[in-house]
Amino acid sequence: MPTKIEVLATLQLVDQSLRAKTRTVAEGEGRVAALEEAVSAQTAAASAARVELAALGARQRDLEGRLAAAEAKMKDRRMRITRIRNDKELGLARREVDLLKEEIGTLETELMAVMEQVEGATAKLSGLAAELARLAAERDREASELRETLARLSTEIERERATRSELVQTIDGDLRRKYEMIFSRRGGLAVVEVRGGICQGCRMRVPPQLFNQIQRNAEVILCPSCQRMLFWRAEGEEASG
Ligand SMILES: [Zn+2]
Repeated sequence: MPTKIEVLATLQLVDQSLRAKTRTVAEGEGRVAALEEAVSAQTAAASAARVELAALGARQRDLEGRLAAAEAKMKDRRMRITRIRNDKELGLARREVDLLKEEIGTLETELMAVMEQVEGATAKLSGLAAELARLAAERDREASELRETLARLSTEIERERATRSELVQTIDGDLRRKYEMIFSRRGGLAVVEVRGGICQGCRMRVPPQLFNQIQRNAEVILCPSCQRMLFWRAEGEEASG
């Protein structure tokens, strides 16, 4: 018949294993969720960049059309000038050609600027698309890793939970709650060994009188400095533990 502290020490092994496994699963889920979020943010950024590029492309085509029209018109007016004999008409036609020249100059400047913007927006979009592809691949890799982890651990977790509930039935309710409280507050370490009179949880020396009590293993003794439950093994067993 194992003592109370021996049962608690066994329970702790199960709990530590369960804790590590559920953490592994939670961490995997967290990574997948974070990547999922990054992928959707990147998707939104890429589609905004695509819309921006489309608008710039439309503006470029519009300017090119207007420029071609103005150039054609100027060519036509210049041809007409050669046939004008009237001075007044000639003056008006030359004035019109000057205005067209001005318009063409303005359109060319504007078109150059838009073409530069198109170039910038194209580079930006291809950068965003590359990053999106990288993030999506990483998300897929993490998701498949998580599926493997779940497949591997869920059976073990289930089995350990069953073991845990069996063990817990043999422990008095108050003692179990106390153990669980210490386990959660003390970083998953509630039951610690005393070796050579020293608590392995906090490295403090246990008073000799208390040490004698612990060795009897009759009841659960708490370490006076770290409040963990103290466990003692006979010298011969120490090495194997
Ligand atoms: Zn201690």
